[in-house]
Amino acid sequence: MSVQTAASSSIKTVNPATNKIEKQFDVMSDQQIEQILAAADAAFQQWKKTPFAERAKLLHNVAAILRDRQDELGKLCTIEMGKLHAEGVGEVQLCADIFDYYADHGERFLADKPLETGIGSAFLSYDPLGVLLSVQPWNFPFYQITRSAAPNIMAGNTMVLKHASNVPQCAAMMERIFIDAGAPVGVYTNLFVPGAKVSQLIGDKRIKGVSLTGSEAAGSSFAAEAGKHVKKSTLELGGSDAFVVLADADLDLAVKTAAMGRLWNAGQVCVSPKRIIVLEDVAEAFIAKARAIYEKIRIGDPLDPSTQLAPLSSEKAAGEIVEQVATAVKEGAKLIYGGHRVDRPGAYMEPTILTGIKPGMAAYAEEIFGPVLCVYAVKDEAQAIALANDSIFGLGGTVFGTDTARAVAVARQIDSGMVYINHTTGIAPELPFGGTKNSGYGREQSPAGIHEFVNEKLIRITTPDAPY
Ligand code: NAP
Repeated sequence: MSVQTAASSSIKTVNPATNKIEKQFDVMSDQQIEQILAAADAAFQQWKKTPFAERAKLLHNVAAILRDRQDELGKLCTIEMGKLHAEGVGEVQLCADIFDYYADHGERFLADKPLETGIGSAFLSYDPLGVLLSVQPWNFPFYQITRSAAPNIMAGNTMVLKHASNVPQCAAMMERIFIDAGAPVGVYTNLFVPGAKVSQLIGDKRIKGVSLTGSEAAGSSFAAEAGKHVKKSTLELGGSDAFVVLADADLDLAVKTAAMGRLWNAGQVCVSPKRIIVLEDVAEAFIAKARAIYEKIRIGDPLDPSTQLAPLSSEKAAGEIVEQVATAVKEGAKLIYGGHRVDRPGAYMEPTILTGIKPGMAAYAEEIFGPVLCVYAVKDEAQAIALANDSIFGLGGTVFGTDTARAVAVARQIDSGMVYINHTTGIAPELPFGGTKNSGYGREQSPAGIHEFVNEKLIRITTPDAPY
């Protein structure tokens, strides 16, 4: 794709550490999109017939390239959306692990499944659907596309990917990596289109399944369009994970885990611990300890290995989060620490602690997608569970406590897709990722992730000896 010189394209790299435009890309024309969809559809007709071993080879090749180039790719994440370089490198390593995971296990996950039946025999076969449209956000530029692409390409589908407009170099790079890994033309293709173009793509008859990771607003209109065209969809949307600290928790460890977990990716993680719920009698100590950690946080250049807190993804994002904090304070919340922009170029904001957030305040209900630790004090465990569940979101969550059985009993009562004990909500190729309530539906990663976009086809065998 050619580089644009005019400052008009919505698809561009603006380095959040400097707020300077580094590169711009043309939005694709209707004719280019048509060529891409035709190629993806033609590729599917061949790709679906390839043996699993051939697909696995492609995925292993992708993994190898990711590992070889992890430093450079991590840097690309930093330049486009601001994350710490070490976090970018870690993300690329995780992507390599996910590609290897589906390459190693995909065939087994999609093996025919015999069914118990009274007469004759029956089994399920798992057939790929066709061209999939995947729409992804910027917060993990390589990981988000990986967890969508790896299982689906292993399953025999082909994919067109619309990435967030602020990470175009990562988007183009992933397509390049697939080509370098030996992918036939059309198996994985990047689309440079704005969000407004997505509904037209969903309606295209060659698109057989659609998935979106992003905000609730985008997910809702996306799923409505998919419903209109009767297309299978999955949604991975926002979250406001509760981090429940039980009475028997190791307080120092809980504070450190919550406070530093909230700064991961500058707080721009769907499963960041966004609501810290502690018992009243330890709340003051918890907040003081968290404040002591945040006072020492080194804010700075995300490429500098000593930096602990990177800029947010954009000037707009930083402005919005500071505004959310200011509104919370106006509505009666207490600002314990931070809450302001940092006096340096770039989309920086201070690590922030808020308390006293109550029902009815915007901050109680909204997702805060930045480095803001919101601490709630409750009387007892029952109130902690009720507060954890008083959210439209249900993505992840944490229960902190030394009595594992008790922590698990609390975890069972939390309405979310994932609950981690003594850890912030995490990620592993073999574990399912996804939410409930307004956090969306469907699962990525794990065996479940490869079953989302396949036709579970029943084949039933009866014979003259065993008639139906
Ligand atoms: P966003 O605005 O919804 O953007 C996400 C993607 O959707 C981008 O590619 C965007 O394209 C596209 N898009 C925007 N509006 C659209 C529309 N109306 N129809 C179709 N596509 C549309 O999300 P964001 O605010 O940048 O990302 C942060 C959100 O993602 C947070 O809520 C976070 O919790 C959530 N998230 C969830 C998960 C999960 O697994 N559950 C993971 C990561 C992030 P453009 O960039 O061109 O607008």
